[in-house]
Amino acid sequence: MIHRNSLTQLAAGLRAGKFSSVELVRAYLARIEASQPALNAFISVTGAQALEAAHAADRDIAAGRGGALTGVPIAHKDLFCTAGVRTTCGSRMLDSFVSPYDATVVAKLKAAGAVTLGKLNMDEFAMGSSNETSYFGPVRNPWNPEFVPGGSSGGSAAAVAARLVPAATATDTGGSIRQPAALCGITGIKPTYGRVSRYGMIAFASSLDQGGVLTTSAQDAALMLREMAGFDPKDSTSVDAPVPDYVAELEAPLAGLKVGLIKEFLDEGLDRENERRIRDAVAVLERLGASLCEVSLPNLPRSVPVYYVVAPAECSSNLARYDGVRFGHRCKDPRDLQDLYRRSRGEGFGAEVKRRIMTGTYVLSAGYYDAYYLKAQRVRQLIAADFKHAFGEVDVLVGPTSPTAAFRVGAKTADPITMYLNDIYTIGANLAGLPALSVPCGFVEGLPVGLQIVGPHFAEARILNVAHRYQLETDWHLKAPERFS
Ligand code: GLN
Repeated sequence: MIHRNSLTQLAAGLRAGKFSSVELVRAYLARIEASQPALNAFISVTGAQALEAAHAADRDIAAGRGGALTGVPIAHKDLFCTAGVRTTCGSRMLDSFVSPYDATVVAKLKAAGAVTLGKLNMDEFAMGSSNETSYFGPVRNPWNPEFVPGGSSGGSAAAVAARLVPAATATDTGGSIRQPAALCGITGIKPTYGRVSRYGMIAFASSLDQGGVLTTSAQDAALMLREMAGFDPKDSTSVDAPVPDYVAELEAPLAGLKVGLIKEFLDEGLDRENERRIRDAVAVLERLGASLCEVSLPNLPRSVPVYYVVAPAECSSNLARYDGVRFGHRCKDPRDLQDLYRRSRGEGFGAEVKRRIMTGTYVLSAGYYDAYYLKAQRVRQLIAADFKHAFGEVDVLVGPTSPTAAFRVGAKTADPITMYLNDIYTIGANLAGLPALSVPCGFVEGLPVGLQIVGPHFAEARILNVAHRYQLETDWHLKAPERFS
C-alpha cells in the first residue's frame, strides 16, 4: 500500500523513519515488473543501481544528512542522458547509446537525493501524441490498455498514473507533458522556457523544448520542480533568476484572482462532455473567490500550422548529427559514404521522424524559407503578443488540455494531421515560452480529462498555487486506475 502515498508523503515518511528507501525501491520495482507486459512504460529498469542508491540514502537519512528527496524513487523520460545507463530517445538510432554524463536535471535530482528506477518509454525523439512512434513499442493507458496514454511522455504519464513511481521527469515541446497528464488523469507542469536546464536533454526543437515533471498532485509537482529548476551555465538559454520555493507558495488564497477562459479553446473541436468538465472546474475556482471572464486570443488557432513549420525545421537541424559516423546507429558493411548515410539514417529513424526531417528541410530550403519558416516565425510573435495582451487583463488563463479523452491504440496512426490536432490547446504555451500545467478534472466515458492552467513567464508558483487550491477542493487527482490502485 506504500504506493498510495504521494511523493511529498514518501519524502516525509522516509525522514520520519516510517519506511526505508530500500523498502520503497523494492516495492516500486515489483510494481514495475508486474506492469511491464500490460503497459510497457519502461525502456530500461535499473534495479541493481537503484538498490545501491537506496542503501546509501538510508545511511544518509540515519545520519541526518540528505536533501528534500532523499531515498524517494523516481524515473526519467528516456531522453535525459544518464551516465552509464543507456538513453535511447525511443529510437533505434540510439538503441545502444550510453551517455558519458548526466543531464543537469538528472544530476540535480540525484543531488536532492532521489533514487532513479529506470528510463521511461516515449515517442521516438519526442515526436508524437500517443506514444505509438516508439521503437520499443506503444505504451498503454493504465485506465484502459486498449487506449493510448498520450505522448510523447506516455511512459512517464502511464508510470505515474499506475503508481509505478510517484514522479517522473518529462519534456514538453508542443504538449508532451500536459496532454499525457490529461489522458492519464495526473498532474503535469511545463515550466517557462529557460526555467529548467536543457543540458543533456536530447534536442528535438530547441526553441520549444522544456523539461518538466509528471506527478499525482500539484504539491508534488512543486516539490520536484523546485529541485529541478535553476540556472545552468551549460545551457545558454537557461535563465539566471532565483528559483522560488514553489512548495511554500502553494497555499495562497485565490480570492481576487482573475481567471480568463480562453474563448478559442471552446471551439467545435472540443468534445462537449469535456467542455462540461472544464466549466465545472472553473466554477470551483470561482467558489474559491476567483473572478472569471472570457478572453480572446485571436491568433491562437494558428498554433498548429505554425508549430508544424517551426518544430520540423529545428528538428531537421538537430537530428542532422545522427549520421552513423559521429552519432547513432551505423548500418552494416556500407559500400561508400553515401550508402553509410542513407542506410544508417534509413534504418535508425522511424516513419514519423523521417516525415518531420523532410518537412523541416523543405521549409528551410532556398525559395521556401520566406514563405514558410519566416512566415511561421512572424505568426509565432503574434501568438506571443496575444498572450501578453491577455495577461494584462487576467492572472491566469484556463481551458481544456486536449480536445478529447484518450483514443484507442491505432485509431489515429494512419492520419498524421488528425494526430497533430491533439495538441491544438497546448502548443500555444510552447510557442510563447509560457509555463502551463494540466490537472485532472473529471472523466468522460471512464477516461480522464484535464484542465489546463497557463501563466505569464516565470509564474510557475501562481499556476501551481491555483492547481493546488483546486485539488484541495476536488479528489480527481486521488483517483487511480482500479487494477493499479
Ligand atoms: N505531439 C507534438 C509533436 O508530435 C508535441 C510533442 C512534444 O511536446 N514533444 O510534436
